Amino acid sequence: MTDDLPAGEMKYSFKAHVQAHGFAGDLIISSSTVNDLVKSIKLLEHAGITPTTAAPHATGSTPVCPVHQRPMKPSRRPGSFYCSAKVGDNYCQEKARQ
Ligand SMILES: [Zn+2]
Repeated sequence: MTDDLPAGEMKYSFKAHVQAHGFAGDLIISSSTVNDLVKSIKLLEHAGITPTTAAPHATGSTPVCPVHQRPMKPSRRPGSFYCSAKVGDNYCQEKARQ
């Protein structure tokens, strides 16, 4: 028992959108130590559970900004998308067409 651990009970939780065996959903891991949390996350890989955000291919119809890795928003022009992230005082210039 070390002295530098907090006396109160600590809770760590980790939420991710995952997919496994054809199913997708939110996964929440709760743990009382960071070490257990990391171990739990590593076990997911062995169980065949993968985070959906790690998938390199776009499954949906919404393009993802290559700079900010976030879904783009549809612009007023049909079939055209823009990134709503801010770069300095301006919006991101990345655009995509379908
Ligand atoms: Zn962007």
